Amino acid sequence: MTSPLFRRRLDGSLPLAVRGAGCWIEDAAGRRYLDAVGGAYAVSLGHGVEEIARAIGEQARTLAYVNGVQFTNAAAEELAAELAEVLPPPLRWSYFLTSGSDAVEAAVKLARQVWVERGRPGKWKVISRRPSYHGNTLAALALSGRESYRRPFAPLLLDLPSVPAPDPYRDPSSPACTGEALADELERQGSETVAAFLFEPVLGSAGGAVVPDPAHYERIAALCRDHDVLLIADEVLTGMGRTGRWLAIDHYDGLAPDILVLGKGLSGGYAPLSAMVATDAILDTLRQGSGNFVHAQTYSHTPVVCAAGLAALRVLKRDRLVERCTALAPRLRAALQPLAALPLVGDVRSIGLFAAVELVADRESREPLPRARRVAERVAARARDHGLLVWSNGGHVDGERGDLVLVAPPFTIAEDELDEIGARLGRALAEVAAEDA
Ligand code: PLP
Repeated sequence: MTSPLFRRRLDGSLPLAVRGAGCWIEDAAGRRYLDAVGGAYAVSLGHGVEEIARAIGEQARTLAYVNGVQFTNAAAEELAAELAEVLPPPLRWSYFLTSGSDAVEAAVKLARQVWVERGRPGKWKVISRRPSYHGNTLAALALSGRESYRRPFAPLLLDLPSVPAPDPYRDPSSPACTGEALADELERQGSETVAAFLFEPVLGSAGGAVVPDPAHYERIAALCRDHDVLLIADEVLTGMGRTGRWLAIDHYDGLAPDILVLGKGLSGGYAPLSAMVATDAILDTLRQGSGNFVHAQTYSHTPVVCAAGLAALRVLKRDRLVERCTALAPRLRAALQPLAALPLVGDVRSIGLFAAVELVADRESREPLPRARRVAERVAARARDHGLLVWSNGGHVDGERGDLVLVAPPFTIAEDELDEIGARLGRALAEVAAEDA
């Protein structure tokens, strides 16, 4: 092995991917994998979409890059305009970046700057939830409830407050589920010090497709309104149709974030694109104040990246793929439901084309598995042996324990491919259960 690529796995075990078409990836040895999780929840339109490839090529030939302080450009302008048509007003003002992590960081900075410009510099804390995942850069990681990612970097992480995330599978009446946990934390911190509450409306990879009760968000929205706390909705995973609506917040009446974060499905994996979207009121504050958001990145509003996003958005709309995601949701649920009867499986839950299989030591008590057994990772590895790509996560129950296997296929997936996900995952689960029996 002479390649100097600093790979994501250093044990040399990664196959070389050579092409993707639809929901399938092929490696150099000719093996085919059903991509049931879009890499990491990114590939929502399938692989090999010609229009997007063409749009990227044309933009690269015409104007690949200009800097966002020197020029605006048509790709960024049109993407912002077409995005505004599908977002709930007053969320309208898109700032394009290149990853979910940096868009979360920008959102947090924006929330802070807004309070400075409104003459309330005492408001700076951001409350987030545990478990959660908001990214791997230092501030986004500080706000993420993912212990295994945080541990080596603990001394570098800002000490910011958090509340437990809802876990209705274990206790639907807990303060985390009702929203009371946030009321208590605002009281403890002093809401005059709190700038924002950062949350994933439907819990993503770290929590496992948890859909909180509407009453939860009624309480959260009222608390944030009453205490002048901005709501930052992180929809990097759930945005752009994944849950069967354009946004996960669309499932909740009256949940109106001040700042929205998008990523992943915004370009469907075709280019590193994310967005921080702000409301009219936030933009008014900046316009009437300093006149600028104090932020800059070389690749913000980049034409070639925005062209990918624009083409992806047009495919989503033209092919009515959000509607397709809603229509396919029952088929995915039906494909995964038989897994609930298998050993190790405690819960199977889904919304749209996003599903989680929660693995437990005991179905009655819902006791998590010992993490040392790394059951979720072993199931994902077995699934890969069967040509199925899924995502595994550990630690959502108490920071240490908790095993999740996650599925989020492209919206273009065929119905029989959804059945295939259930069949292959079932095989993987049964094999791991048999090994451990
Ligand atoms: N926020 C959420 C909800 C995510 O799921 C992720 C990535 O998985 C991120 C933020 C970070 O995005 P990125 O990996 O593009 O930096």
